[in-house]
Amino acid sequence: MSASIESFAGRVVRCERLREDREVQGDVVIVGTGAGGGVAAEILARAGLKVILVEAGDFKTRADFHMQEAEAYPELYQEVASRKTMDKAITILQGRALGGSTTVNWTICFYIPEPTLKHWAGRYGLGMFDEQELSPWYEEMEKRLRVQLWTRHNPSNLALQRGAKKLNWKHEIAHRNVHNCRSLGYCGTGCPVDAKQSMLITTIPGALQKGAMLLTRCRADRLKWKDGRVEMLECSALDSKGSDTTGVRIRVRARHFVVAGGGIESPALLMRSQVPDPSALLGRRTFLHLTAGSAAMMSERIDPYYGAPQSVYSNEFLWRDGVDGEVGYKMETAPLHPVLAATAFKAWGQAHAGFMHQIPHIQPLIALLRDGFHEDSPGGRVHLRDDGTAVLDYPITDYLWRGARAAFASMAELQFAAGANKVLPLHSDARLYGNWKQARKAIADLPMQPLHAQLFSAHVMGGCMMGPDPERSVVDTDGNHHQIENLSVIDGSLFPTSIGANPSMPIYALAARQASRLAKRIRS
Ligand SMILES: Cc1cc2nc3c(=O)[nH]c(=O)nc-3n(C[C@H](O)[C@H](O)[C@H](O)COP(=O)(O)OP(=O)(O)OC[C@H]3O[C@@H](n4cnc5c(N)ncnc54)[C@H](O)[C@@H]3O)c2cc1C
Repeated sequence: MSASIESFAGRVVRCERLREDREVQGDVVIVGTGAGGGVAAEILARAGLKVILVEAGDFKTRADFHMQEAEAYPELYQEVASRKTMDKAITILQGRALGGSTTVNWTICFYIPEPTLKHWAGRYGLGMFDEQELSPWYEEMEKRLRVQLWTRHNPSNLALQRGAKKLNWKHEIAHRNVHNCRSLGYCGTGCPVDAKQSMLITTIPGALQKGAMLLTRCRADRLKWKDGRVEMLECSALDSKGSDTTGVRIRVRARHFVVAGGGIESPALLMRSQVPDPSALLGRRTFLHLTAGSAAMMSERIDPYYGAPQSVYSNEFLWRDGVDGEVGYKMETAPLHPVLAATAFKAWGQAHAGFMHQIPHIQPLIALLRDGFHEDSPGGRVHLRDDGTAVLDYPITDYLWRGARAAFASMAELQFAAGANKVLPLHSDARLYGNWKQARKAIADLPMQPLHAQLFSAHVMGGCMMGPDPERSVVDTDGNHHQIENLSVIDGSLFPTSIGANPSMPIYALAARQASRLAKRIRS
C-alpha cells in the first residue's frame, strides 16, 4: 500500500506553471506513466534509483473525476478521445493522463493466451516467455493491483452470458483490478472513488514515496544521443489544457532512459530522435485488436452505463481456425455513455434522437479481432507529421474485413439468443434487424469498407517489437534497445503481434520483469 498521490505534491513539477527553462537530473528517466511506465517507476525507485517521470497528461486525482464525458475526453485522452488512423476509418481510444490508459481503462485482466505465446516462440524467437517464466510476474502484479474474480455482473454482461449459454458457446467470468468497487460504471472517465487500482493510485505514489520526481504536462520531444548513448531528453512544457506548448523547455539528464509512451507514441519519440533502426521495424507492426460493435434493443432496462463494464467474455471464435488461420475474435461487452453512443450510432435527426432515447435498453457487444498472426494482417505503421506528431496508417486488409463481417454476424446471433428484440450492427449501411435470419442475410451483404463499418480500438500494441535478433526487432527481450546502450522500451509497444486478450495485465507483468532486470543492470 502506498499513500495517496496528493501527499507527494512536493515531488511533482506541474510544467504548465513553469516560467523559465529547467534542467533536472536523475538515475533513470521514464517517459509515460501508464501500465509500462508506472510499474517500471515503482520497481526502479524501490531499487534505490532516482527516477524522473515525464508525463504529457495533467496532474489529476479522484477529486477531478466527475463522471462527465465532456470533461474526461479532452483532459484524459489522446486527441480528445477522437484519435483516428490516417484514413479516419478507425477511432483509437488511448489515455494521455497521469497513469496513462490505466486511469481510463475498464479494468478487465487477462494473461497472454497460450496460443499467442507459442506463436511468438515459433515465429519470433520469444520462447523465454513461457508460463513458468511469466507466472511469478503475474502473481506479483495481481497482488499489487488487487486483481479479483468479478461476479457482480451488470445486465449487459448477464445478457452476454445468457446468449452464449443458449448457443452453447464458450463463455467465462473475468478478473478485474479493483478494490471496494462501487459499480459506478464510469471507469472510462477516471474512477472518482479510487476503486480502480490504476497506476495513478498504486505504483506512481509508490515511486514518489521512494523519492521519484514527477513532471506533468511535460512532453518528451526527442532524445539526444551520441556514440551509442543517450545524453539527454528534451521536453516541452504544455499549457494547462495540454493543447499547446508554453515555450518553456525542460532538459532531463540521466544514466538510463526508459520510453513508456505506449503504442504509437513510443515509436514516434524514437523516430523523432532518429535512433538507429537497421531492422526498419520502428513504428511498423502496430496492432489494434480492431474492434467492431453491435447494439441490441432489449425489452428490459440494461442501463449500459452502470456497473463493471466488462466481466463476462466469450472466446468461442478466438482460436477457432487455428492461430494463423482466419482472424479470430474475442467477444465482450462495453460501457455505453451518451457521448460515446452519440458518435457510435451513425444516423441523423429524428432517427439519431430515437436511438439516444433507447440507450437505457441497449446492450452493447464488441468483438476484438486478433491482428498480427497472419501474413495478411501486418498491422499499421506510425508516421510523423510535419510538426513531429504521430499518426498511424492502418490499412484494413480483406482478411480483416472478412473477420469484421463474421464478428458482426456472431454478435447479432448472440444478442438475439439473449432475447434482443432488434439488433443494429455498428455500420452505416446497416438497419435495425428484427430476427437472426434477417440479420444474417443483411450482414452477408453489407459493404465492408472504411468509414462504413464503425471500427475502433482501445488496445494499441507493437511498433517497437522485441526479439533476440537485432535484424528482426527494435529492442531485445528485456526491452533494451539493440543499438543504444542506455535506452529501453517498457510498454505495450514491445509486442510482436496483438495479444488476443485485453493487454494491460501482460504489460504490467512484462514491465515488472523488465524493470527488475534493468534495476540490477543499472546498479551493477
Ligand atoms: C478506454 C480504455 C479502456 C481500456 N480497457 C482495458 C481493460 O479493461 N483491460 C485491459 O487489459 N486493457 C484495457 N485498455 C488498454 C490498456 O489500458 C492499455 O493497453 C495499457 O494501459 C497500455 O499501457 P502502455 O504503458 O503501453 O501505455 P499507456 O498506459 O497508454 O501510457 C502511456 C502514457 O505515456 C504518455 N506519453 C506518451 N508519449 C509521451 C511523450 N512524448 N511525452 C510525455 N508523455 C508521453 C501518455 O500521455 C500516456 O499517459 C483500455 C484502454 C482504454 C483507452
